[in-house]
Amino acid sequence: NVSDRRLEVDRVSKRYGDTVALDGMAFDVRAGEIFGFVGSNGAGKTTTMRIILGVLAADSGEVRWDGAPVTLETRSRIGYMPEERGLYPRMKVGEQLEYLARLHGLTRADAVSAARTWSERLGVEARFGDEVQKLSLGNQQRVQLAAALVHHPEILVLDEPFSGLDPVAVDVMSEVLREKVAEGIPVIFSSHQLDLVERLCDRVGIVRAGTMVACDTVEALRASGGEELLVHAPE
Ligand code: ATP
Repeated sequence: NVSDRRLEVDRVSKRYGDTVALDGMAFDVRAGEIFGFVGSNGAGKTTTMRIILGVLAADSGEVRWDGAPVTLETRSRIGYMPEERGLYPRMKVGEQLEYLARLHGLTRADAVSAARTWSERLGVEARFGDEVQKLSLGNQQRVQLAAALVHHPEILVLDEPFSGLDPVAVDVMSEVLREKVAEGIPVIFSSHQLDLVERLCDRVGIVRAGTMVACDTVEALRASGGEELLVHAPE
């Protein structure tokens, strides 16, 4: 049953030399749930996401999807939007999306079709033949989300996907995320924008010093006096 699937981050720890980045980080995200990841700079959000993705190894602990460990080999199941963004500036939007889809194993025909579909869904189809560097930052971010979706991932992990975006792009991207969630995909995104987190998320996890200090619905966090945490988390 697809709706029973969950992404489990099970007591993950990670150090960079003397710096403890994650210290027993633990939470679950269910299929069909939008999970907001909130915390100040350096709290460990990006490190957690890179470990979920499999590009960074944990020192201890494990990440599982649907009961099985997530590894670099299962990487293609995850759609990732990195904080530093990762588009090739001189590649055309369409070429870029097709290339990424191919990289994740889609056939040429499927890659072409997925590139079209997702650029339309994100409202950048008119820029399909333009170099990425010619686009506004907002449109580049839309392309970046399309890039995370183009290979039909089972999980979406998005690092600050809305940062610096204009309200129209926020609406377009939120709508796409809601649709994916309705299809039974778990979505995890980090954000400093509490209004967005409140609007979009089923549950919110608050991260401090590499640990999950609270994890619940926004309403429950408020009811239990955790509003303090919510308000002060992102700084
Ligand atoms: P931000 O919002 O700034 O991206 P974050 O919550 O994503 O912050 P991380 O980037 O995961 O936090 O960083 C967690 C901790 O690990 C911080 O103390 C950071 O300085 C440290 N750190 C992250 N990457 C490295 C690295 N490659 N080498 C050394 N220390 C690192």
